[in-house]
Amino acid sequence: MTKQIYNFCAGPAMLPQDVMQIAQKEFVNWKDMGCSVMEVSHRGKDYVALAHEAEQDLRDLMNISDEYAVLFMHGGGRGQFASVPMNLLPENGEADYVLTGSWSKSALTEGRKFGQINVAADMHVENGMRSILPQSEWKLSDKAAYVHYCPNETVDGVEFDFIPETDKPLVADMSSCILSQEIDVSKFGIIYAGAQKNIGPSGLAIAIVRKDLMGNARSGTPSIFDYALQNQNDSMFNTPPTYAWYLAGLVFKWLKKQGGISAIQAINAAKAEMLYNFIDNSDFYHNQVVSRYRSKMNVPFMLKDESLNAVFLSEAEKVGLLALKGHRSVGGMRASIYNAMPLSGVEVLVKFMQSFEKAHA
Ligand code: PMP
Repeated sequence: MTKQIYNFCAGPAMLPQDVMQIAQKEFVNWKDMGCSVMEVSHRGKDYVALAHEAEQDLRDLMNISDEYAVLFMHGGGRGQFASVPMNLLPENGEADYVLTGSWSKSALTEGRKFGQINVAADMHVENGMRSILPQSEWKLSDKAAYVHYCPNETVDGVEFDFIPETDKPLVADMSSCILSQEIDVSKFGIIYAGAQKNIGPSGLAIAIVRKDLMGNARSGTPSIFDYALQNQNDSMFNTPPTYAWYLAGLVFKWLKKQGGISAIQAINAAKAEMLYNFIDNSDFYHNQVVSRYRSKMNVPFMLKDESLNAVFLSEAEKVGLLALKGHRSVGGMRASIYNAMPLSGVEVLVKFMQSFEKAHA
C-alpha cells in the first residue's frame, strides 16, 4: 500500500482520488476504443457527447439558466483577466475593480492594458488584519461598463461573505471558490475560473457569461477569447483542451455523487472551522485575516517563531502533508483545502500541528 498523502497545494491542486482512478483506468482505452480520450477528435460524436454532458452537469450543479452561456476556454484565469475587458469594455470605456488581494490586483493590471480601470476599493487592513472595505465605502463609477471582484483571494486567504450590490454587470473571478458553496448565478454578469483548483487540470478556464453581454468584443480581440464566437462554436472554435475538459466532466460527476454543492459546502465549512478553531486556540500559530472574511478554501497561517518554518515544512512532508509553504508574497504557511481535500486530511494536519507545537513551544 502506498503511503497516505495529503496535498495542500493552492493549484494545481489535488483532484478527488475516485476521479484519478477512473482516469487511470480509462487512460489508454476510453470507451473500448483502444485509444485515449486525448487521442480522439473533438468533433467526433463520442467526444461531443462527453463535452455536452460535462456542460450539462455543471449547469445542474450550479443551477445555471439558459440566459447564460457556459464556455470551456483556453488560457486559465489570466486568460480571463484579458478576455473580460476585451469583451465588455468599450474603447474609451471605464470599469470598476475591487481590490482585496493579489489576484484582484493582477486582474486590474491586465485590465489597464485595455482602458480606464478605476480602483473602486483598495486592499483593506484593520488592526493589522487583512479585511474587506465595506461596500458603503466603495467608489463606484456611473460610467463603469462592469464591476470586477475576486470572491476568494487564493494568496491572501480573504473571502467575501456577501455578493456586491450593483446595477452594472458583476464579474467574478471564482478561480479558487467555484463549486465550493452554493451561489445565485443570476446575480452575476460573468463568472470565470481557472480550472486547477476545484475543476480539473490547469490550462482550462470556465466562463459563465450572460448572453446579453456577448457580441460586443472589441475589434482586435483574438478569436479564441471572443465569448460570442466561442459560444456560436460550442467552445470548439479551435481545438479545446480536450483532456482537461474530460477530467472536469469526471469531477462534476463526482460532485453530483457527493450530493452536489450543498453537501460539499457543509464539508468545506467543517474543514475550515476545524482548522481556524485550532489556530485561534493556539499561541503558537496565528492567522492574519479578520474572522468574518476568512477563506474556507485557502487558510494562510504563520508560526509565531518564523525561524521554525523550514523544520515545520520538512517534518510535515515526512508525514505526508505536502505543499504547506505559504505564497512568497505573504510568507508563513498556507493550507489549501478545496473540495477534493477530505475532512480526514484536515484532521491529520491539525494533529500534526498540535504535536509540532508540543515539541517546539
Ligand atoms: N485568479 C485566482 C483567484 C487564482 O487563484 C489564480 C491562480 N492561482 C488565477 C486567477 C490565475 O490563474 P492561471 O494561473 O490559470 O492564469
